[in-house]
Formats: sequence, structure tokens, C-alpha cells
Amino acid sequence: MAICRFEGCKAEAVFASEFCWAHIENRSAYREKLATLIKENAPLKGVNLSKVDLSNLSLARVDLSEANLARANFSGSILFDANLKNAELLGSNLSDCDLTSANFDGSDLTRSSLQGARLWHANLRNATLVEANLSRCDLWNANLFNTRLWRTDLLQAISLSKKNFHHRANKFLSTYRLNEKGILSAEEAYRDLKSYFLANGRYDDASWASFKEKTMERLLLKKKKNLAYLPSSIMNLLCGYGEKPHRIVLSSFFVIMLYTMAYFMLKAIIYTPALRYRPVITDYIYYSVITFTTVGYGDFIPKSTLLFRFLAASEAFIGAFMIGLFIFTLARKYSAR
Ligand SMILES: [Zn+2]
Repeated sequence: MAICRFEGCKAEAVFASEFCWAHIENRSAYREKLATLIKENAPLKGVNLSKVDLSNLSLARVDLSEANLARANFSGSILFDANLKNAELLGSNLSDCDLTSANFDGSDLTRSSLQGARLWHANLRNATLVEANLSRCDLWNANLFNTRLWRTDLLQAISLSKKNFHHRANKFLSTYRLNEKGILSAEEAYRDLKSYFLANGRYDDASWASFKEKTMERLLLKKKKNLAYLPSSIMNLLCGYGEKPHRIVLSSFFVIMLYTMAYFMLKAIIYTPALRYRPVITDYIYYSVITFTTVGYGDFIPKSTLLFRFLAASEAFIGAFMIGLFIFTLARKYSAR
């Protein structure tokens, strides 16, 4: 690593120069030299181009992986298919760049500006976009799996959907390795995404972000050993925080079957029109459904002891609660908000 030759300066010299960017006297000459070197395919992997003005250059397919590009200015440049894997891009200016198919895997884009940039098919996996500015940035088909979003300005971004965050394998990898701070920032990121999706009329994606946000909230409560974790878990199981109606159908079925088993094993019911009739298993299922839905015809009734009455009453209570919850969840999921 070469140090800048300017007296008293301790900064690292930039690539193909003896000075740092601040102490290069003829910057336009340096830019020309750099452009020539890039044209001649000089190896640029891991080089130092910190703060350098690289604006309006044609850098398609350039390999700048692991390079130090902190506070570099790329505005208006073409970085099509560029390799920026694990690059240091802190505070860099990538506004109005063509970043189609660029690879940012693991790179640090903290406080960078991506305003108006085109990121079609770009790979931002494992990248850090903390406090980055993504307004008017086109993220069509960009991969944002495991990307760190925190205070990222994405309300004005274009073509963002939940698909950006999907990944076939390792679905749970990102959430369960998070520490407390990571969960907190993820919760905030999902909240921002939710407002983005709502503002853009993508209610299904908003529902996904809302579910993720609540999941982060629950994980945080769990880490803090807060007892509010329990009701949160139950709501997740029952209805996915009002975002997953099919969960209520499943848990209702489970409750009905559980009560059927209890009634059956305790021989809890009698058939009123003919007291000698011995109820069979289908009668128990029927009785359980009629009780759960609070219909209560009265052809089958609980035997008149406290336990059997309590069982029937508790099922009716749970049934009424879950039917209400089901209607609420359906309305929430399928109505425009
Ligand atoms: Zn210097």
C-alpha cells in the first residue's frame, strides 16, 4: 500500500498515481490516464480509487471487486454488468448510473446515492444500503435478499416488490441469525417497505411486509424475554397477524377435532330424542361443529355435569372468537386499505 507523497498526508495513494485524490494536481490528466487504463483492461481488482471522479465514464463489465471506492463519484457512468463484489462504496455517488446486472454482493453502500440509477437484474445480496438514497432508482428484478436496509430512502424507488426479497433456498437464514440490533433495523426496514407498497397500491406485497414486520417484533420480544411474546406467537399461529386467513381455517379444524376427541373419550353427550341411542364418532364430530359455530340445535346436548357443560361452553366461546377473527382477517386481506 503506497502512501500519498504530499508532505504530511497519510492517505493512501490512488491507483496508478503517487498521490491521493485530494493532492493530484492535474485531475483531468489523471482521469484520461485512468480511462485509457480501463480501456486496456488493466486489472482493477482491490485497487484504491477513493474519492476519485469517475463520472460519465464507460465502465461496462469492469472488475472493481474489493476495490476501495469510498466517496467516489460515478454519476452518469455506465457500469453495466460491472463486478463490485465486496467493494467499499461508502458515501459514493452512483446517481443516474446504468447498473444493469451489476454485482454488489457484500458491498458496503452506506450513505451512497443511487438516485435515478437503473439497477435492473442487479445483485444486491448481502449488501449494506444503510441510509442510502434510492429515490427514482429502478429496482426491477434486482435481488435484495439479505440486503441490509436501515433508514434507506426507498419511498420514491421504482419497481420494488416482495419478489426482490425472495430466494429459493435459505429462506429463514437471514432472520434467525440476526442479533437484537439487526432485528430492530429489519423491523424498521419492513415498516418502510410496507409504506412503500401501500403508497404504490401493492396490497399483497404490503401484507407480506406487514407480516414480516410483526414477525420481527415477535423475535425482538422473544430475545428480550418479554411476556408479550406469548400473545404475539398465538396471533401468528392463529391468523398470521391478520394476513393469513387460511391459518384460521386450519386452526379451527384443529380445535374442532380436539374437542371431538375430548367428547368422545369422556362420552360427554346424549341424544335427546332417544336417550338409549349410543352416539357414534360422526355424531361427536357433528356435535363439535355445531357447538363451535354456536348453532346448538339441541338434538345432541352435553351430559348435565359441570365438566361437560364447561367443555361445551369453552368450545362455543373459542368458536365465536375465531369466526370473528376469520372475518376480520378476510376483510383485511382482500379489501383495499
Ligand atoms: Zn494526499
